[in-house]
Amino acid sequence: MKFADLHLHSHFSDGTYKPVEIAAHAQRCRLAAIALTDHDSVEGCQETARECAAVGIECIAGTELTAEQSDNELHLLGYFIDIENPTLLTRIARCQAVRQDRIREMVARLNRLKVPLTAEAVFALANCRAPGRPHVARALVKARLCSSLDEAFERFLKRNRPAWVPKLKMSAGEAIDLIHQAGGVAVLAHPGLNRTDNVIPGLVEAGVDGIECFHTKHSTVTSEHYLELADRFHLLVTGGSDCHGLSKGKPLIGTVRVPYRHVEKLKARAAEIKAAAAAQPVR
Ligand code: AMP
Ligand code: ZN
Ligand code: FE
Ligand code: FE
Repeated sequence: MKFADLHLHSHFSDGTYKPVEIAAHAQRCRLAAIALTDHDSVEGCQETARECAAVGIECIAGTELTAEQSDNELHLLGYFIDIENPTLLTRIARCQAVRQDRIREMVARLNRLKVPLTAEAVFALANCRAPGRPHVARALVKARLCSSLDEAFERFLKRNRPAWVPKLKMSAGEAIDLIHQAGGVAVLAHPGLNRTDNVIPGLVEAGVDGIECFHTKHSTVTSEHYLELADRFHLLVTGGSDCHGLSKGKPLIGTVRVPYRHVEKLKARAAEIKAAAAAQPVR
């Protein structure tokens, strides 16, 4: 049987692995396919595809866009996207600028709390265009201003903690349209983490194609619940580990895997979306 892990982060966002390391881990886990889904970035897709091809693994170009609906932060996965699509690249560049401004604001808040971190230290450590809270947490630990990543989140970075800064986000509908016009399939990420099933009918209305039923933080009961919803709303099913590198000493890659037939269904949907996009006038 062939399996795929369809949710992975690299150092091009807040993961720690390089593409070559992702490919090596994927090979070790005997995955037939992976998808790179960095937050608000597609920068690592080409290199990851090259490294995967070298070891005979299929690599799907993806991203994980931060969006919101009804005051809830939602993550929308895009699969089989055209990573050179100009509209996608322009919007992603804007998201990245927002993320960089947000780092400066988080650091300013920390400084007001007499925590002497610099934005430059965070940017140097992040070394990517889509920096986020995990990079601030790592910089705090590196500068010995916190003893662990957990402490950094608990004391400063979690929602409503003193250095937390809300992110300006596109609407879920915009994210879905953006993925579609780039030829991609739009999937709601880890709905069990948001615990807001009431947003799902609206997303279906907005054209979402699928739902991530299998995820590291979904229990068996949660996965079964979303499989039922996928069935009810005629949505595609995906799953992935959401690996960001080592987690408690082990990489999560390969610990959540879906049968390859789900990749085939995604591929078929992507072909339909690309055909529909080609028939549309250029926006
Ligand atoms: P951001 O996109 O900057 O808001 O950061 C979100 C990322 O931070 C998520 O993808 C998680 O990887 C990580 N994260 C969020 N909350 C926590 C937490 N309480 N502890 C550790 N990591 C977290
Ligand atoms: Zn992340
Ligand atoms: Fe996410
Ligand atoms: Fe993720």
